[in-house]
Amino acid sequence: MSVKITLKAGIVLAGIVLGVAVAYEVAQAIQLREGRLELRHSAEQTMTAEEHLAAEANDAIAQVADDNLTFCSDRELAFMRAYIFRSPHVRDLGRVKEGKLYCSAAIGRLAEPMLTPTPTMVVDGRKIYVNIRIMLSGDAASSASDAAGAVLEIGSVSAVMNPRDFNNPNNLPGIFSGMLLDRSRKRVLPVLGQTTPLTSEEVIAGDVIERGGIFYQPICSQRANLCAIVGKPRAEMLSSSQPLVAGFEIGGGLLGGAFALIVVQFYLRHRSLESQLRRAVRRHTLTLVYQPVVNLQTSEIVGAEALVRWVNEQGTVVNPEIFVALAEEQGFITEITRLVVQRAVTELRDLLLHGNFMVTLNIASEDLADPRFYGHLQECLLKAAVPPSSIGIELTERSTTDQETAVEALAQLKSIGHKTYIDDFGTGFSSLAYLHELDVDGIKIDQVFTRSVGTEAVTASVVPQILEMAARLDLQVVVEGIETEEQAAYFRAAGRGVLGQGWLFGKPLAADRFREMYVQQTEGRQQVS
Ligand code: C2E
Ligand code: MG
Ligand code: MG
Repeated sequence: MSVKITLKAGIVLAGIVLGVAVAYEVAQAIQLREGRLELRHSAEQTMTAEEHLAAEANDAIAQVADDNLTFCSDRELAFMRAYIFRSPHVRDLGRVKEGKLYCSAAIGRLAEPMLTPTPTMVVDGRKIYVNIRIMLSGDAASSASDAAGAVLEIGSVSAVMNPRDFNNPNNLPGIFSGMLLDRSRKRVLPVLGQTTPLTSEEVIAGDVIERGGIFYQPICSQRANLCAIVGKPRAEMLSSSQPLVAGFEIGGGLLGGAFALIVVQFYLRHRSLESQLRRAVRRHTLTLVYQPVVNLQTSEIVGAEALVRWVNEQGTVVNPEIFVALAEEQGFITEITRLVVQRAVTELRDLLLHGNFMVTLNIASEDLADPRFYGHLQECLLKAAVPPSSIGIELTERSTTDQETAVEALAQLKSIGHKTYIDDFGTGFSSLAYLHELDVDGIKIDQVFTRSVGTEAVTASVVPQILEMAARLDLQVVVEGIETEEQAAYFRAAGRGVLGQGWLFGKPLAADRFREMYVQQTEGRQQVS
C-alpha cells in the first residue's frame, strides 16, 4: 500500500515538475514575444526622432541655399546665426565652394578658405562626413565628448549636427542608435563612425538578432538615409513580468499534477480491476445468468444463452463487455471460459439432458487457438453426461478474422457434435459473402438490426438481405435484442424456424430462477395441450 502511495506521489510530483517546466517555457516564449514587440516599438520611435533631425538639417541647408544673400556676407552670417540660435539640433552652418569652407555661423569668415576632407559617404549627391572636429563651434569643440560632429553637405551649404542627438538615450550603453545608410551600396555606418554589433546586411534586413545574450532590433528609414539599432539583454526581456511567469508555473504545475493524478488513478484502478478479476477467476466467484431463446412462432423456450457476471470487491457489477475485454487483453480469457463451461454444464444439467434444450456459450478467439479448450469442453460434458448437441458455441465475427484458425476450430467443434453460431452478426468486418467460407449452423443477428426494424435506419434495409441469405445457406437464425412485439412480429413473418432472444421474452436470470421460469412455461403449455 505504502509503495503504491509513494509511487503515486512520485508520479504526481513528476507531473507537477513537468507542468512547471512546460509552463516556464511557455511563459518565456510569451515574454520574449512581448519583449520583441517592445523592442520593435522602441526602434520605430528612435527612427522617427532621427528622421526629425535629418529633416531639420535639410531645412537649414535649404533656407541658407535660398537666402538670396551674398555668399559669406555679414548679413548671411547673421541669418545663419539666427537659424542656429532657434534650432535645437543644428550646431553650425557653413558655406563651401569647390571643396573649401569659406565661412560658418560659429567661426565667421575664414581668412584662408579651408579644404574640406574627403566625405565619408556620398548618397544621392549629398556629402556626409562623420567624426569631424574642425567645423564645430568653439564651445562644442572644447568639450572632449562633443569634439566629433556629423556634417551634411548639399551643394554649397553644410550643416553640422551633434551625432549624440541621433542616439536613443534609453538604448543600451555602447549601442549607438544612429546610422547612415547607403542603400545602393548596401552599406551602413554609425554616425560616430564606431563599429556596430551587426553587419550592414543584417541591419538592412531589419530582423531581430540575438547575439551574446542581447537582442538587437535594426530598423532603416523609408524616407531618409538612416538606420538605427536598439538592443536589450535577454535577461531584461524575461524579468519584465515575474507575476506572469509565476502564474503560469503555478497553473502548469497544477495541471501537470492533476493530469498525472488522473493517469495514475486510471492505471491503478485498471491494475486493481485486473488483479480483482484474476482473484475472482481463481476463487470461482464469477457467476452465470441465462437468457431464454424462444421459437418466435410458438414462443416456446428452446434454449438459453449463458452470460457471465462479475460483482467486484467493492460490490459493483462490472459490465461483461469491460471485463471480458480486459481478460482478453491480458490473456486470461481462457480461464474464464473454462469456468463458464463447467458452470453451465452443471447448473442446468437437468435441462440439458432433456434433449431439445440447448445452452449457447460465448467463446473468444483465444479459446479457439487453445488446443486444451476442446479437451476441457469434452471432459466437462463427459463428467456431466451431457450430450455435445446440447451445447452451442457462439463466436463473434471478430474472433473469426483469422480464417484458417476459425475454419479448423469450426470443423473440430462440429465433429464433436456442437452447434456453432456467428454472434453479433452484421457488426464485424466481414461481409455476408464470408458466410460461405465458414461452416456454421446459424447466425445471431445483432441488436442494432433488431432496433432498426420499422425505422428509416440504413441497417433496416440490410435485414431482409441477411434473412434471405441465411435461408439460402440453410442457416439457423437467432434474432438478438427483441424488446417489442412489433420487432417480434417482423421476424416471425420472416420464416418458420427463426428464433428470438430479448427482454420481450425474458431478461438473463440466475440458473434457479431460469429453471423456474422454464418449468412454469412448459407446464403451462402441457396443460393447454
Ligand atoms: P452478446 O453475446 O451479444 O450478449 C447479448 C447481450 O445483449 C447481453 O449483454 C444481454 O444481456 C444483452 N441483451 C439481451 N437482450 C437484450 C434486449 O432486449 N435489449 C438489450 N438492450 N440488451 C439485451 P451482456 O450480458 O451485458 O453481455 C455483453 C457481452 O459480453 C456479450 O454480448 C458477450 O459478447 C460478452 N459476454 C457475456 N458473457 C460472456 C462469456 O461468458 N464469455 C465471453 N467470452 N463473452 C461474454
Ligand atoms: Mg452472445
Ligand atoms: Mg450478440
